[in-house]
Amino acid sequence: MGSSLGKTAGSGSEGQETCIFKKLAPVVGFALGAGLVVYYMRRKESIEQDNSKGFKPSMSGFLQTCERDESDCFQMKLTEKIVLNHDSYIFRFGFPDKEQEFGLELGGHILFYADCPDPENGNEVSEVKRKYTPISGLDQKGYVDFLVKIYRAGDHPKFPNGGRMTRYLEGLEVGDSVKMRGPVSKKVYKGDCNWILSGEPHKMTHLGGVLGGSGITPFFQYMKAVVDNKDPLKISIVYGNKTEKDILLKDELDELQKQYPENIKIHYIIDKPEDPENWDSDVGYITREILEEHLPPPGPETMVIPIGPKPMNKLTRELLHDYTFY
Ligand SMILES: Cc1cc2nc3c(=O)[nH]c(=O)nc-3n(C[C@H](O)[C@H](O)[C@H](O)COP(=O)(O)OP(=O)(O)OC[C@H]3O[C@@H](n4cnc5c(N)ncnc54)[C@H](O)[C@@H]3O)c2cc1C
Repeated sequence: MGSSLGKTAGSGSEGQETCIFKKLAPVVGFALGAGLVVYYMRRKESIEQDNSKGFKPSMSGFLQTCERDESDCFQMKLTEKIVLNHDSYIFRFGFPDKEQEFGLELGGHILFYADCPDPENGNEVSEVKRKYTPISGLDQKGYVDFLVKIYRAGDHPKFPNGGRMTRYLEGLEVGDSVKMRGPVSKKVYKGDCNWILSGEPHKMTHLGGVLGGSGITPFFQYMKAVVDNKDPLKISIVYGNKTEKDILLKDELDELQKQYPENIKIHYIIDKPEDPENWDSDVGYITREILEEHLPPPGPETMVIPIGPKPMNKLTRELLHDYTFY
């Protein structure tokens, strides 16, 4: 009785064929591997070439030309500190050349460094590093804006000391400098639904976000670029906050949705309304029903990014177990 196992082990012409296949296997494997590498490189190149004007960062921006120290860090001078609401500011950092752009890719962020007291270690001062995403457009000349939500001491019973970096940032005055490093870009949008995600090219036509508080900043960047460039990417977000007054950039978000309703959909959810009679959206925690209603259905060209407090991100991943996350 001939089994496939018996054939490969047999002698004669069949055995010789198997032998040739065995010899060819590494060559074929190498050729396939090389083919795949070439395919991915070409695809990446074509995405980079696709990169339409509005999505291309300046190649001679502040980030490319600024002076850096031996750790690749640079200094930026605070030129304006704009109060956004009861606990958030826009920190504007100016460039010496008013015609220069920042030079960041869409979706990139910057690391801020500061020497801050550590309340859990006898208030000993040590260096703290935190990430922040600009909200100003790629083509903004002369300055870059960061929106930062401040965690003050005593505001939250679970965090009596507040936040180390944000307390430091709130104390900054115009004219002060901040040490920074970057850019770091893990989810870069190139335009026309082309993405580079952790270094790999992907086609994603629909972006979903389950966001909390300051988690809106990268999505604000993506949305503004989509609207300004009449780009086909669709963005749907569920945006959670404590109360109405905590919703960041609400007027700007409502305007973006109004301008481009086919591409931008925003659903607000808050823990507890201060004015329940005038709050006509969801209240409480996110549920599968809320997410299903306001996010695109799962699919090969749909991705969801959760950016909120850790428990909210965990719940999102559990509720949307059949979605692709990045
Ligand atoms: C890729 C990336 C981009 C980011 N972009 C932005 C951005 O654009 N804007 C922005 O504001 N943040 C952004 N963040 C968050 C930011 O990096 C910091 O984590 C945040 O500012 C808190 O830093 P901290 O040192 O003040 O707080 P920490 O000292 O690190 O405190 C830790 C945590 O305790 C909690 N906490 C402390 N005090 C309070 C309080 N009073 N109320 C509620 N919770 C409290 C918060 O969850 C806080 O994150 C980003 C994070 C990442 C990973």
